[in-house]
Amino acid sequence: MQSDEPSRPGSRVDPWRGHYAARAAGMVASEVRALFAVASRPEIVSLAGGMPNVAALPMDALGALMAELVAERGAVALQYGSAQGDLGLRETICEVMAAEGIDGHPDDVVVTVGSQQALDLVTRVFVDPGDTVVTEAPTYVTAIGVLAAYQANVVHVAMDDAGVVPEALAETFARLAREGRPAKLFYTVPTFQNPAGVTLTEERRPRVVEVCRRAGVLVLEDNPYGLLHLDADKPLRALRADAPADVIYLGSFSKTLAPGLRVGWALAPAAVREKLVLAAESAMLSHAVFNQLAVDRYMRTQPWPEQLGNFREMYRERRGAMLDALEKYMPPGVSWTRPAGGFFVWVTLPEGLDSKAMLPRAIQSRVAYVPGTGFYANGDGRQAMRLSYCYPPPERINDGVRRLADVIGAEVRL
Ligand code: PMP
Repeated sequence: MQSDEPSRPGSRVDPWRGHYAARAAGMVASEVRALFAVASRPEIVSLAGGMPNVAALPMDALGALMAELVAERGAVALQYGSAQGDLGLRETICEVMAAEGIDGHPDDVVVTVGSQQALDLVTRVFVDPGDTVVTEAPTYVTAIGVLAAYQANVVHVAMDDAGVVPEALAETFARLAREGRPAKLFYTVPTFQNPAGVTLTEERRPRVVEVCRRAGVLVLEDNPYGLLHLDADKPLRALRADAPADVIYLGSFSKTLAPGLRVGWALAPAAVREKLVLAAESAMLSHAVFNQLAVDRYMRTQPWPEQLGNFREMYRERRGAMLDALEKYMPPGVSWTRPAGGFFVWVTLPEGLDSKAMLPRAIQSRVAYVPGTGFYANGDGRQAMRLSYCYPPPERINDGVRRLADVIGAEVRL
């Protein structure tokens, strides 16, 4: 019901609350976002956010190429462009994906505002309210947000240290079909998963795709971290590489270059790609041309593989600092994953501990993390938390984990 009270400036009463579409009820602030304000206080070691360390970028070179871009191609860079994205950039994107075994055509690439928008567009064109989307448990927090906004019914499937379990996936698809709510999409982050830090093994990859194909479920492969491999000397083969008709692949320059540029993409089977372009057109008319051309120029003129190598070196050192500190300080009964790339470690607490209830005490001890519940659509995850090693330098990571271990130790003793 709408209030009769006139709304005063600054009033918390929303006179329009009776007007919202039903889908707005699913739009709530994620736990990660709510944490950011607190975690950014300088005295707190934030192991919460997944912010890449952009300070390591060659800022002078980036500034120079942006100035050149305006001087040389300003009339194009500052004009409207197409909703599919700049062709030159789409060619570059195909070269980037080739490293993961993907033979993509620029016509099948849609440039998006980060891969987040690709996630939104795919959901918009495939998911009606009540449709079932299957995801790993746990899964990327903002994917849950997008799915909630489109009123999807999210069903989780278990993972182990080798990624999603193909048998569990097949059983879930069969059960959902029997219940009359068959899955439409399987959303997966198979490589260096956010939040679990787990990677789907090479052995399981074809089996997972086959399970989806048999069940008639479209795979949505979200892969922003694939090039940040910290152990292997080359990236893993993407799911999309061997199943171009069954997989929509999402990529991003956010983790390999800069999230502030907001350039990501979807590679989709041709018919799907046409729908995505139409959806993109209605969402934003044209992509930010300047940002696309800046990314493309960066990729074509800068020693990108070397810069990526520097990123890997930095994240490898930070991951080492986190895993060493966990080993050194955590009390018995705490376990964690050992990521082979990406940004995240998933920590499981001893039986009976609640990471959400513990968070205020951790903040008091000047360390922040993300409670596990944010990564489940069904309230699970209380006994777990996500730690990220991408942003603080190694000494801070060590201090943060030590403080966290003290907080957990005190809870265990309670
Ligand atoms: N997918 C996953 C799994 C992510 O971790 C992120 C960023 N945290 C995104 C998508 C969105 O990235 P962007 O929109 O910056 O490309």
